[in-house]
Amino acid sequence: MRCVENDCCGCATESYPCRGDSCSLRHSVHLYCDKCKRDVEKIYEYEDYDLCEECLLNEFDSLDIDTVDWQDI
Ligand SMILES: [Zn+2]
Ligand SMILES: [Zn+2]
Repeated sequence: MRCVENDCCGCATESYPCRGDSCSLRHSVHLYCDKCKRDVEKIYEYEDYDLCEECLLNEFDSLDIDTVDWQDI
């Protein structure tokens, strides 16, 4: 999920009021993983979802050379 949020939580001070719509914090982009709902820096488009790296990897079965059994092959 991608969204633009208003992260400006009072950048205004007595001498410098918030610059309003041009305040970059008011339009900060957030990327959320559709599975774990975490706010992440990077998402991967997988089918209809936006997934973080961790959840994306969970979508795939993996085998580890150290733990794989001959019966798995
Ligand atoms: Zn502001
Ligand atoms: Zn995730």
